[in-house]
Amino acid sequence: MDVAACVENVRSRIAAAAKRAGRDPDAVRLVAVSKYQPVALVQEAVHAGVSDFGENYVQELERKRGELSIPMVRWHLVGHLQSNKARVAATVANVVQSVDSEKLALELSKRCEQAGRVIDIFLQVNIGREPQKGGVLPEATRALVARCRDLSGVRLVGLMCIPPADMDARPFFRAMRGLAEAAHVEQLSMGMSDDFELAIEEGATLVRVGTAIFGARPQVEAAPA
Ligand SMILES: *Cc1c(COP(=O)(O)O)cnc(C)c1O
Repeated sequence: MDVAACVENVRSRIAAAAKRAGRDPDAVRLVAVSKYQPVALVQEAVHAGVSDFGENYVQELERKRGELSIPMVRWHLVGHLQSNKARVAATVANVVQSVDSEKLALELSKRCEQAGRVIDIFLQVNIGREPQKGGVLPEATRALVARCRDLSGVRLVGLMCIPPADMDARPFFRAMRGLAEAAHVEQLSMGMSDDFELAIEEGATLVRVGTAIFGARPQVEAAPA
């Protein structure tokens, strides 16, 4: 299947999952995760109507944004962001989904103010409490949400998670929804190629889909250090 057909397929699966859960399909935003994929495929997805793209690395996001140069496209940073890259992220990303510390939130906000921009952020929650994974622990989420609401360069819009691999994701998605409700945040970024329908059933408002749209990622990692 080409990219357009895959986008069509993913969209109909999103709609079906939303319907099953008694939700409005338009309440679920599709972010096509294009990390390591060539700009030509991003372009195909744009033609198929996709407006949101996710990247893991700031430099790769910056490069593709420059090469594509379509103002309507929203670029989401979904990979770990180091504070020293916050300045660049503040100028090229529309959304940072991977904010996982107060230090990073402060730095991003400061850099956005300097750039004269306000960007949307999600707090990444380490919902499976995995030592190797980024994100704030569930019990620390509410306090960090409150701190982020005081910042003027960023607008806290939601929570994001990557549940543990090889486990039933449903309980983790459900726990995320509980956290979002408790913290009064509206958006929930959860669900990838293998589990986005499940995530939608559990309340995802944004799904991050890579492989099911672009196919397998090239093995050569174009990622900068
Ligand atoms: C790579 C990635 C995705 C997309 O994963 P697929 O399984 O290819 O759909 C989603 N979210 C994050 C944070 C990722 O790093």
